[in-house]
Amino acid sequence: MSNFNPANRGISPHLPFGDQRAAPWYGKDILSVKQFSRSDLEYIFGVAHEMREMVTRVGTFDLLKGKILANLFYEPSTRTSSSFTSAMERLGGSVIPINEVRYSSVAKGESLPDTIRTLECYADVIVLRHPETGSAAQAAQYARKPIINAGDGIGEHPTQALLDLFTIREELGTIDGLIVTMLGDLKYGRTVHSLARLLSLYSVSIHYVSPEILRMPKEIIDELPRTMAQAEHTTFDPVLPLTDVLYVTRVQKERFTDEADYESVKGSYIITPETMKAGKEHMIVMHPLPRVGEISIDFDNDPRAAYFRQMEYGLYVRMALLAMVLGKA
Ligand code: ASP
Repeated sequence: MSNFNPANRGISPHLPFGDQRAAPWYGKDILSVKQFSRSDLEYIFGVAHEMREMVTRVGTFDLLKGKILANLFYEPSTRTSSSFTSAMERLGGSVIPINEVRYSSVAKGESLPDTIRTLECYADVIVLRHPETGSAAQAAQYARKPIINAGDGIGEHPTQALLDLFTIREELGTIDGLIVTMLGDLKYGRTVHSLARLLSLYSVSIHYVSPEILRMPKEIIDELPRTMAQAEHTTFDPVLPLTDVLYVTRVQKERFTDEADYESVKGSYIITPETMKAGKEHMIVMHPLPRVGEISIDFDNDPRAAYFRQMEYGLYVRMALLAMVLGKA
């Protein structure tokens, strides 16, 4: 949403909890992690923490009663889509789910701007996942209502990065001073692109471990501050014993143009109880999921396996973001 001011459009905001317009995130889009400062993150994590406590205590409450979310997904999703639905419903709001654009007017050739203009007639906020990098920013240019980027191709996945950082903070108590290792498909994995950018706001070191053809894009490495230690590797063994956060990703099969390339790198690294013997006792293993063999299910009961807890933290972060952009936090 660009410069949306409801007062200019003859819309009278509903103000039961004080003036929404005074809320710092009211009406804002969430498009890229580049828009956040460190104090923004502390604010979001504070609200997410409160959401966690409220869900634990009462489950569901009416902060967003009467508000409607349009969940528009042009690419498959399980966690992002259902956690936004759950977040909205736990806050007392409701959801228009469009998970299969094949069955919407998109199949008739409707453009993204027209679909967005349509949905904002019915909803107060739009969550968008789309295969093209920059699509969420494009949608925001046309929309009067807030757009939340739920993954734009190989570009960014800002809400995932926020929940990843929240997971690290809740699990390890701090972010500063940690050694983070990202493993797997760092070229096409949008979650690591967003996470590396967010981590650069803290005092951390990042190791990138990937097959040669799936290295972290040079533009991202160059974009991060020179003061942050970053190192690239093709083997995992030397960095595992140093690592506090191991962030594993799947090889993004759907982004390859050549099947043979995919076959040559799939299964490059597999986390098992055996490999993790070399890891610290007090560290965590994360994964944005879905996993397709990178982490053996035999590792799931290890206390360091944080990937299922990570999904739950995502609910609280998405509740916080919805409340914020709708002026209730
Ligand atoms: N669920 C994450 C995403 O949408 C990770 C993945 O698909 O591998 O980017």
